[in-house]
Amino acid sequence: MNDLLLQNGRLVDPANGVDETADVLLSGGKVAAIGAEAATKAGDAADAIDCSGKVVCPGLIDIHVHFREPGQTAKETIESGARSAARGGFSTVVCQPNTRPAIDTPGTVALIQDKAEKKAIVNVLTTGTITKDRAGEELAPIGSLDKAGVVAITDDGSCVQSNELMRRAAEYAKMFNLAIFDHCQDYDLVTDGVMNEGYWSANLGVKGWPSVGEEMIVARNILLAELTGARIHCQHMSAAGAVRLIREARARGVSISGEACPHHFTLTDASIAGSDVFWNGDGKELYPEGDKADLPSWPEYDTNFKMNPPLRSAADRAAVIEGVIDGTLDIISSDHAPHCDYEKEVEFDYAPFGITGLETQLALSLMRFHHTGLMKLTDLISRLTDVPAKLVNLDNKGSLGVGADADVTVFDPDAEWTFRREETVSKSTNSPFYDWPLKGKATHTIVGGAIAWQE
Ligand SMILES: [Zn+2]
Repeated sequence: MNDLLLQNGRLVDPANGVDETADVLLSGGKVAAIGAEAATKAGDAADAIDCSGKVVCPGLIDIHVHFREPGQTAKETIESGARSAARGGFSTVVCQPNTRPAIDTPGTVALIQDKAEKKAIVNVLTTGTITKDRAGEELAPIGSLDKAGVVAITDDGSCVQSNELMRRAAEYAKMFNLAIFDHCQDYDLVTDGVMNEGYWSANLGVKGWPSVGEEMIVARNILLAELTGARIHCQHMSAAGAVRLIREARARGVSISGEACPHHFTLTDASIAGSDVFWNGDGKELYPEGDKADLPSWPEYDTNFKMNPPLRSAADRAAVIEGVIDGTLDIISSDHAPHCDYEKEVEFDYAPFGITGLETQLALSLMRFHHTGLMKLTDLISRLTDVPAKLVNLDNKGSLGVGADADVTVFDPDAEWTFRREETVSKSTNSPFYDWPLKGKATHTIVGGAIAWQE
């Protein structure tokens, strides 16, 4: 493998407080030099990439993806999911354990690691479950899972309802210095709700999933984080009250964190009433000068707008945005959740929750926070690099200091493009963002000093 010299890019490395034009030399799988030294140190054999006009940053990290292996490889595989990640600019992803079987034993962890090593073009890491088979009844062997190499524990897709069991899990997690991720959903409050409980669920006659169902568990997690000192991470936050609770707790120094997904800071529940309703209302702010004719259309009850937790009101969306800006939600993840067409092509009530997201995540984040001027680019990149790296204990990733792993993302923040269904490299096509005009695109995803994907 030749050395790689990234020239003339805008180097944004939040962990090291760097935001300046600088060359980066990658050698032997590590960052070998930064700045003027990079060119001098680069031998004649080094391959050079001209990064003028582009941003060079630590390889993006997504700690919330579903690659469906083992068990549901018609939706996605570790191989296809990794391709989708690379295309989206992500050099490291963390799988959730709601596979079949669930990732609740060292044997299943080893299977993921083996597939990842043989088939994946990016780093694919995995979580393990909190409870056996994610059933919420009995703790999984957390110590053995830790030894096997999981980077966090979670029952994602499900939520541990027993506060007592969650407390024990937090105590074990703390002992092994693993973060606990939680999919925050109180089953008693949510019952069989499938979209946000509010005006649009009433209008459309769809069973509501109330915000309080999320907020209740976030409050529980704050109390348990405070009691045990464990790091508890609330996944895919969607409700204004949940963001407020996390903000207040963090101000008190509680080891609680939260993540935001692009669909929750872009869309609202009005999109389930169809594109006309959305573009004439909550969607207006997304393309203030946009020509309506160029915006995509979709019917009401489109199941590619169904995910868990659901899209919520414009006020909730604003709260999620505010949370990302002020660092209450200091991690952005996709919750990439592929499903087959035949599964999604059913009535809204019966369709599975979830959408794909790896290939649109960077653009939607840039559009929402960078192109609007709401956030400094370095703060935004931080939500996708060093903060998630730290949560899952990746010491050599998420930053680009000399000696760090040579995982790098190069992107053109101003590239305008349209996301097309037929161009996705995921095995599934359940995204709500097909035909959306987007701005910002990865041009190179570099993993361990080698180009995993380039435009
Ligand atoms: Zn979830």
